[in-house]
Amino acid sequence: MKIIKRPNGTEDILPAESRDWQKLEEFLRTTAGIFGFQEIRVPTFEQTELFSRGVGETTDVVQKEMYTVTAKESVFTLRPEGTAGTIRAMLQNGLLNEALPQKVYYILSCFRHERPQAGRLREFHQFGVEMAGSALPSADAEVISLAKQILEQIGLKNIELKINSIGCPNCRKNYHEALRKYFSTSKECLCGTCQERLEKNPMRLLDCKVESCQEIAKDAPVILEYLCEECRTHFEQLKENLTALGITYVVDPKIVRGLDYYTKTVFEFVTTEIGAQGTVCGGGRYDGLIEQLGGQPTPALGFGMGLERLLLVLKNQGTELSQEKYCDIYFVPMGKEAETKAMQLTAELRKEGIFAQTDVMGRSLRAQMKYADKLHARFTAVIGENELNQKETMLKNMKTGEKISIALDEKFVEVFSGIEIADRLASEIQ
Ligand code: ATP
Ligand code: MG
Repeated sequence: MKIIKRPNGTEDILPAESRDWQKLEEFLRTTAGIFGFQEIRVPTFEQTELFSRGVGETTDVVQKEMYTVTAKESVFTLRPEGTAGTIRAMLQNGLLNEALPQKVYYILSCFRHERPQAGRLREFHQFGVEMAGSALPSADAEVISLAKQILEQIGLKNIELKINSIGCPNCRKNYHEALRKYFSTSKECLCGTCQERLEKNPMRLLDCKVESCQEIAKDAPVILEYLCEECRTHFEQLKENLTALGITYVVDPKIVRGLDYYTKTVFEFVTTEIGAQGTVCGGGRYDGLIEQLGGQPTPALGFGMGLERLLLVLKNQGTELSQEKYCDIYFVPMGKEAETKAMQLTAELRKEGIFAQTDVMGRSLRAQMKYADKLHARFTAVIGENELNQKETMLKNMKTGEKISIALDEKFVEVFSGIEIADRLASEIQ
């Protein structure tokens, strides 16, 4: 029978890679915690309307990429991102009535029906944060500095912060007019989606991935020239804050971001390493979203970080996240009685937090030694009839080849711990 394969655009995270994921996730949780963000966990699927309202009718995500499933009479959508569900949860559970700002983070899977390629999947994972309650540019700076600290401390190189302001509904009115005027001269050359966008939300045209549209958009009017006084001041203060924090940035007026309800600040952390999929982190302010989802008008902002992309870039750059977990000792039992002894010693060592393993395959001595090698065992100990009779075995240091005798008695765990620590220290000194 043929094996069943995983769906296109999904990934298996195998034991060799899951250590990197664990390390990354642990680091993300710790760093978010240091910045005062607490974890929130939201459902994998939500009512479709949450995303059409929360992400925006005119976005690629809602128009083309959503996984909408029908179960009996109900229709739901698998979350394409984390913000909408998080804000929904904050509203539904009254978090916004508590002390502000509310600061939450999440690590979750997202689903988007896109063309799979390196760094672009149909099921992928995001780390994200949302901060609700502050309208000040210092909040923008705090969120950006969290993303920056994460990317920097995880060891990412060649990373650039791009910022822009896309204004508020007030200043956008004039800008939309200017865009409509600009694009209408070449309307026939735009893709079908962009022709529609021209009426509904012309700013989306700047975000189109179709090459011919990008070409036309090249000389489009720039939002920064249309900002109202308030938005302009906010952007200037953000830049001052970033400078004060020693965070370098470039202003890129082409960044408009995927969500419809972004206001003022938008930003991306981009790397040149994986071509078109270079955006590792994207975020911004969405002062209109909470009201759009039925809450009181509340300023808020956040970012989403694509974890597959982050790991891909780290791998391409040769950055090691985690050390391979080795085995401290591998027992090689020969015979029934020895197997029991090895099993007991393994169990006792494990209770002390020592990585001990023994044969569960009934293999020959040679085959067991080979397996111990594959595990990168630091020590091996053969237990046969002789060793049992003499209540003593030889510990073999697999790196140096050195052998030390050790009694197979009730002191074994204690003595082995001492030897193991001494070996660890010795190899650290080298
Ligand atoms: P892109 O422009 O690359 O399509 P986006 O604007 O759609 O990105 P966001 O909605 O802002 O992305 O999501 C935040 C982050 O999630 C992105 O910066 C990226 O790192 C990651 N991401 C988005 N879509 C995918 C995907 N299909 N596969 C893997 N990671 C993704
Ligand atoms: Mg996208």
